[in-house]
Amino acid sequence: MRYKSRRLNKEYLELPDIGKLILDYVDYFSQKEFGIEIMITHLFRTQDEQDYIYKGRTRKQGDTLRHYGKNPWYSDHQFWQAADIRTFHYKPEQVKKIIKFINENFRYNKDDSKKMVLYHQIGSHGWHFHIRWCKETICLDSYNPYIF
Ligand SMILES: [Zn+2]
Repeated sequence: MRYKSRRLNKEYLELPDIGKLILDYVDYFSQKEFGIEIMITHLFRTQDEQDYIYKGRTRKQGDTLRHYGKNPWYSDHQFWQAADIRTFHYKPEQVKKIIKFINENFRYNKDDSKKMVLYHQIGSHGWHFHIRWCKETICLDSYNPYIF
């Protein structure tokens, strides 16, 4: 597992166990399948950092546009519930395989109410996986039952 900065190295140690487990799994899979260590580019985000990324931006909510300035939103990163992984060095089929691997091994919660992984690009942050979890996230790997 590689880190874009020293800050991330420290933040990894602060992650809840389920976050570490997911990243360890994805790193294992990526190394075994493609010979590539994952590169973590973002973990925790402060409110100032959130404001900097989204200031002046809008996003669709149903049929309406939500303005961050008037009606700001939070990020999973602000609650230690997400990790970003760089993807530009993966081939498109490798990206698909990693997404499939995550979805086969984890459920966000019992209701499966959120996608475990988004593949997206935001602002100056290039294309990346945004992997998220919560206290109810379940690891489905029968060899490693890890249920919260
Ligand atoms: Zn993210």
